[in-house]
Amino acid sequence: MARGKATRRTIESYTLSQINKTIKAGDCVLMRPVERSKPQYVARIEQIDADARGGNVKVHVRWYYRPEESIGGRRQFHGSKEVFLSDHHDVQSVDTIEAKCTVHSFKSYTKLDAVGNEDYFCRFEYNSCTGAFNPDRVAVYCKCEMPYNPDDLMVQCEGCSDWFHPACIEMTAEEAKRLDHFFCETCSPQAQNKLHNSHATSRNSDTKVDTKRRRRN
Ligand SMILES: [Zn+2]
Ligand SMILES: [Zn+2]
Repeated sequence: MARGKATRRTIESYTLSQINKTIKAGDCVLMRPVERSKPQYVARIEQIDADARGGNVKVHVRWYYRPEESIGGRRQFHGSKEVFLSDHHDVQSVDTIEAKCTVHSFKSYTKLDAVGNEDYFCRFEYNSCTGAFNPDRVAVYCKCEMPYNPDDLMVQCEGCSDWFHPACIEMTAEEAKRLDHFFCETCSPQAQNKLHNSHATSRNSDTKVDTKRRRRN
């Protein structure tokens, strides 16, 4: 009868036999949502513990919120693979882990050559009670003054170095990709004069305009 309080002990790592992956504190994982129609939950493991016999393994996690799960909802500048590191902690059975994933910093995400299913990025911490973000300010670009969405193509003005969405400068993405040089509206008149005085409108082959993702390094 008197079994006492179950003593649990912290374990260093745990191998998920179904997916043949070993998890440890600091790893990011995708977990089965309560409703199967919902996307998998993204979490960072803080601690793993088990009962005295090494059974009933549980993970202590800190949730990442997807933009649609935040109070403010998804905004135009949120990337499709963007998640916010929340202050919301939880304890879950290890069985709910379906895969390991990587949550990149914003900078390293923009440098990825290819974004895989298990790649996410995080540039904000999120307070799940107040809906506040940290940092609460980010650099904005273009005429629309939006933070950078790494999913979107942008072109850089050679005059002011600001970045622009093709749609905001009345261009299609195809046109933008074909550009050799780009000067925004503000920089355009001086730029045209300079070009005229020096080497007229001759186009040289080095492509200055590139997608923002490739350009940023
Ligand atoms: Zn824009
Ligand atoms: Zn400019």
